[in-house]
Amino acid sequence: MLNSQSAAFYSNPNYLKMLYKDSSYMNLKMRVTSEFVHSQPGHWGEFVKGVDEDFSTRQKYIAFTFDACGGPKRSGYDSELINFLQQEKIPATLFITGKWIDANFNTFLNLSKDTLFEIENHGLNHQPCALDGESEYGIHGTKNAAQAFDEIEANARKIEALTHHRPRYYRSATAFIDEAGARLASKLGITAVSFQVLSGDAVPFTPDTIIEESVLQNVRPGAIVIMHFNHPEWNTYEAMQKIVPKLRKMEYHFVRLEHFKLISEKQREPHINPIK
Ligand SMILES: [Zn+2]
Repeated sequence: MLNSQSAAFYSNPNYLKMLYKDSSYMNLKMRVTSEFVHSQPGHWGEFVKGVDEDFSTRQKYIAFTFDACGGPKRSGYDSELINFLQQEKIPATLFITGKWIDANFNTFLNLSKDTLFEIENHGLNHQPCALDGESEYGIHGTKNAAQAFDEIEANARKIEALTHHRPRYYRSATAFIDEAGARLASKLGITAVSFQVLSGDAVPFTPDTIIEESVLQNVRPGAIVIMHFNHPEWNTYEAMQKIVPKLRKMEYHFVRLEHFKLISEKQREPHINPIK
């Protein structure tokens, strides 16, 4: 049984310490990171090579994704938003960090048991995945391949240990990543994902009407929408209340990423481009 003792056991520092004694983890870490000894980080951004941002479909399907970043001031829980998704039966993909799990252990377990939600990887410590310590929005990235490995793989294993499901997708903290980081993820069988529709909910105090507009004006079949569920003080829930009925009127259906093959901008077929 998982309980508060388990919460302490799985907390990031303890969990990482345990993983460092686990030969399967350390052997994999050595093998993967050795391939990056002479690697350049490559381009840094949200849509660099190796990162997918939407999925292939000709149907009116879109995927809502919600991040939970974790850490000081980033470990809140927007229960109104989650209740709304549950009441309206809206499937969603939740990208969650190890830090957020530590701060919301029982909530995390409950979310993972709800088949409406797909749990994916937002990194162990919410550090943007970089080979050279690049930072974004004032958040420092990982400094080298070893730290990038821990950021991705340790949280993948943590989520798997708690949910019996290994995440397939990884969204780097801030969604910024370098090309080498995306390649490193793929060596772990994990696809780096960004987004196609930026809701703008992460800019504090963005009014719900602006979030609504950002989503409705940019929505298209196969779009991945990025939002957050770790800031109840933001207007994500308020915006979703307006967005969902309108998208339903436009005959959109909501899906989780796990059911689709993701693609990058370059792979998109021209004829499935936006229905405007
Ligand atoms: Zn985040």
